[in-house]
Amino acid sequence: MLLIKNADVYTPESIGRRDVLLDSTLLALSDSIHLTPESGLATDWFDAEGLMLIPGLVDALVHYTGGGGEAGFASRTPPLKAEQAWQAGVTSMVGCLGTDAITRSHVDLLATARGLSEQGVNAWCLTGSYAVPTPTLTGSVERDLVLIPEIIGVGELALGDHRGSQPGWQEVATIAAASRRGAMLAGKLGTLLLHLGDADQPLAIVEQVLANTELPRSLFYPTHCNRTQDTFDACLKFALAGGAIDFTTSTTPALIEAGEVPAARALALALDANVDPSKLTMSSDGQASLPCFNVAQELVDTQVACISSLWQSVQVAVMEHSVPFEHALASVTANPARVMGLNKSGRIQPGASADLLLLDPESLTLMATISGGVIRWQNKEAQLRHREAA
Ligand code: ZN
Repeated sequence: MLLIKNADVYTPESIGRRDVLLDSTLLALSDSIHLTPESGLATDWFDAEGLMLIPGLVDALVHYTGGGGEAGFASRTPPLKAEQAWQAGVTSMVGCLGTDAITRSHVDLLATARGLSEQGVNAWCLTGSYAVPTPTLTGSVERDLVLIPEIIGVGELALGDHRGSQPGWQEVATIAAASRRGAMLAGKLGTLLLHLGDADQPLAIVEQVLANTELPRSLFYPTHCNRTQDTFDACLKFALAGGAIDFTTSTTPALIEAGEVPAARALALALDANVDPSKLTMSSDGQASLPCFNVAQELVDTQVACISSLWQSVQVAVMEHSVPFEHALASVTANPARVMGLNKSGRIQPGASADLLLLDPESLTLMATISGGVIRWQNKEAQLRHREAA
């Protein structure tokens, strides 16, 4: 067991100074926890006086098997290492396939998720890819959701992108309905993660689905909503109508030049536009290739997306765009966990998975990452003074 004393706790809401007791699960949260030798509980503890304690980050889109390949085989990107996640403060993540469902597979995705989980990073995955018909692991979207515990939804289905399969609204509705049906049987949400491309109205197809079927808006979760100003404006309408939207934090100078709205700024603008803060999320798109195409859709630049951009965007949102800390924090913890149906992630509360981060309150610098109750990484300056049981 581990006892953290005197931390300034954000659940993500601020609840002030608390002591927190945990093993792999968060056991207790109280003004003051004292364990006497008579309790028989062997407990390490440290004093977190002067530090903030927040939930481990939930990254709703990481290509943890590696992705890319849009510029040939040499442009395939490498897989994520657990150490990269810990250093970035990410303790829970959802992985999926993107453009490439030929050299990348759901078998590899599932094995990588299990490998990450064995190392203390909670990892789930999505079935499908950019393509329609939807590639799956067991032969159908429904079977994948019912039979594979780690598979919690479908994605990234590409809309409004020249690399997608250009599905019509009926095809999108059929995929979403299959995801919902399978998810209901397995007690999951079956969220459909939508990769939005450069098209002016990439969500027009989703609005057709919503207008013509009984499927709920909450099933659809568009990402890259900050790709261009037009994409952002379209997604703002989707969010104001009650949908959740996701901003991608990884970027490059070429993408900014091409009109991307940086994620931190997009978060601030959406809040200014009175979007419900609980509908806003950020994800890193980590290990994706970040290809930049010119107007002729020719590839002009490609880089590897970085998972550490997630927390960096929270820092920028708070410090440069005056986003309230609790809203920025919720966009990378409680909100994506809620959208994806990850009940034990993204919040500090008894019964949650013991995934926690310590922060310097001035700079919001990550000082330590705890996942599954184990200190996985700490900043050299943290020097958490570990002590034996009382
Ligand atoms: Zn994408």
